[in-house]
Amino acid sequence: MLKCRETEDNADQLLNGDLNRRQRLAIKMHLLMCRHCRRYVRQLWVLLRAIPFMHGKASEAEVSQVMEHIHSHQTNGP
Ligand SMILES: [Zn+2]
Repeated sequence: MLKCRETEDNADQLLNGDLNRRQRLAIKMHLLMCRHCRRYVRQLWVLLRAIPFMHGKASEAEVSQVMEHIHSHQTNGP
């Protein structure tokens, strides 16, 4: 079983698709049981998606789209 620290360390690689099948499975198992890491991975995912917007000036629509996404994930979930 992975520890929270290991899951967090691997989260960005998970989202980039850099992990092999076995590593992904180990993280998924951890996420099923760990609410803390689920939230961490979600927020990291949102952040990674938001980064392209940060290179240029984002339109208001883009910003509110990201904010809505963050908000919906924060209020969702078990
Ligand atoms: Zn955890």
